[in-house]
Amino acid sequence: MSSVNTMSELEEVRRRLAVLEEEKLQWEAEKRIHSAVLDNALDGIAVLSPDQRYRYLNEPHARIFGYDSPGELVGESWRSLYGPRELARFRRDILPVLREKGHWRGEIRGRRRNGLPFDQLLALTALEGIGFVCVCRDISARKRVQREVAQRSAYLEALIENSPLGIVVLDKDGRIELINPAFQQIFHYRRKEILGRKLDGLIAPRQENRKASEYTARAMSGEQLIRFSAKRRRKDGAWIDVEVHGVRLDVDGSPVGVYALYQDVSERKRAEAELQKAKELAESANQAKSEFLANVSHEIRTPLNAIIGMTELALGSETEEERHDCLEAVSLSADTLLELINDILDFSKIEARKLRLEAIPFDLKEWLGDLTKVWGPQCREKGISFSTDFDAELPDQMVGDPTRLRQVLSNLLSNAVKFTEEGGVTLAVGLSGDGPASLRFQVEDSGIGISPEARERIFEAFTQGDGSTTRRFGGTGLGLAISAHLVHLMKGRLDLESEVGRGSIFSFSVPLSRARRTSSHRISDNGHIRTQGQVDLEDHEGLRILLAEDNPVNQRLAVRLLEKRGHRVTVADNGRQALEIYEQCRFDLILMDLQMPEMGGYEATERIRQLENGRSKHVPIVALTAHALREDRERCFEVGMDAYLCKPFKSSDLVEVLRGLTQAAPVAT
Ligand code: ADP
Repeated sequence: MSSVNTMSELEEVRRRLAVLEEEKLQWEAEKRIHSAVLDNALDGIAVLSPDQRYRYLNEPHARIFGYDSPGELVGESWRSLYGPRELARFRRDILPVLREKGHWRGEIRGRRRNGLPFDQLLALTALEGIGFVCVCRDISARKRVQREVAQRSAYLEALIENSPLGIVVLDKDGRIELINPAFQQIFHYRRKEILGRKLDGLIAPRQENRKASEYTARAMSGEQLIRFSAKRRRKDGAWIDVEVHGVRLDVDGSPVGVYALYQDVSERKRAEAELQKAKELAESANQAKSEFLANVSHEIRTPLNAIIGMTELALGSETEEERHDCLEAVSLSADTLLELINDILDFSKIEARKLRLEAIPFDLKEWLGDLTKVWGPQCREKGISFSTDFDAELPDQMVGDPTRLRQVLSNLLSNAVKFTEEGGVTLAVGLSGDGPASLRFQVEDSGIGISPEARERIFEAFTQGDGSTTRRFGGTGLGLAISAHLVHLMKGRLDLESEVGRGSIFSFSVPLSRARRTSSHRISDNGHIRTQGQVDLEDHEGLRILLAEDNPVNQRLAVRLLEKRGHRVTVADNGRQALEIYEQCRFDLILMDLQMPEMGGYEATERIRQLENGRSKHVPIVALTAHALREDRERCFEVGMDAYLCKPFKSSDLVEVLRGLTQAAPVAT
């Protein structure tokens, strides 16, 4: 071997060494670069052997799993960092994909060193002959935020969905972006029907209301809070009252639309309106009642003043003639007073719905004759004419309530006379053609007439044509209210035609029925007769009468009235006394007050009827009472009374009742 060769070989070795040295330096540099790259990567990176043990891992990988340095995991099994469920998933789902495609990527739950699970994003790549490369990223924070966001939005969603108020969100142009179930419920629209549409077209406002778009524009232009109530239309066309609160919706500082709350307040509005109406009604009723009381007081004082004054004059009068004149005036005023009190009583009965009609047979022609007899002279006295126009076909016998019918016509006729100065009054009665026995009554006058405005009111209780009428003509304003109600009870309607200055026509038709049986029985306005059995009062002059009455003045009055007619009267102060006297003496007739101390009239009558039973003959008992209710009357007949006289009564009423009792045949009612 030559030295040259040796030298050159040596050179070669040196050169190679230098190259190797160079390569080593480079390799080390590269290794440093690699580890710098790997250790500074944001993701965890590892290389696993085919049996899934760590061959290499970078620092982030160790940290993700909770280890301080990679060295702690090198050689350890990768599987120890996963729970049984994830390992099963690895075997079942991931490994086959890795084998087939060479890589897999997905979310998987790892386990940190302290045992707590965490979410990671994992990419696995199979390296032939080496094992696997595994890149993982801790996404637990992102997941947690995602979960929180989902929870938060579910919460907000629930707020909107469950809101008892209707919620609507409109975009800048007023198109519907969102509605909640309450909004759907208020307007009956389903979500998909209205999303993207403009509110005005859907829940179009009533004319008097502003449009939703106006409010939207105001909110968009920065008005703080829009609050309004309006009428809006539902899908089915019904109008509802809504109350709306709206604000501009700003997202990240810029306006994106309008957010509004709707509340259906129809029910409340209705209740409020009703309350208001009731309040007004109560107020006006109250006012009308005060006016009425003032009127009544005035009306009562006028005849009372006459009664008191004239009585005083009568007491001090020198001559019989003067006394007679005074007492006549007293009697007239007392009649007026009675009429007024009857009106008030009728009215309160109507108010209490206690007024009921009778259905009794009566002679129509006779009844009309009586009416004419009263009103003809009244007109003549006033210097106006009175004419009648009765249909020739009118039936003789009718069934109805002649007393109440007379009351209505008397009211109408008295008004007609009262308000007519020239011309006259006509009473017309005919068949109305509505039914076999329907009668049409009409009272026409040529008086002052009634203005259209007054026409509306005069049928209401307590009201008169105008306030001044009261002072000029008197009256309580009850007559027409009572009449209209009575006609209504008779299934008719009181109509009015009138022209101011020319006169008025009041008319009504009522269905009566024809009487099947004729009866000559008369019913007086004041006394009602219904016999229990045959009454023996053949001659009703000079009767022996027992009077049960506790009030001394009334006792004296009745005694005087009866004695003047030739009767003999025994007075009992109460029912018990009446019973005792009855047991000792015989009487032709008993007049029985109903309300008395110790024993009232009902009980006394019952006892008398018991004593009578089978022993003595039937003594007629006539009730005397200041109660005018139908129930009282019925009770009288129930306990065995024969007739009924309402206080105050006149001697002529008593005569009428006595006549009725002697003529009485049982009446079919
Ligand atoms: P009053 O007791 O005041 O007469 P009404 O109820 O009978 O009460 O009548 C009420 C009002 O109706 C009267 O006050 C009067 O203004 C008007 N009125 C009734 N009938 C007539 C009529 N025939 N002509 C003109 N006005 C009438």
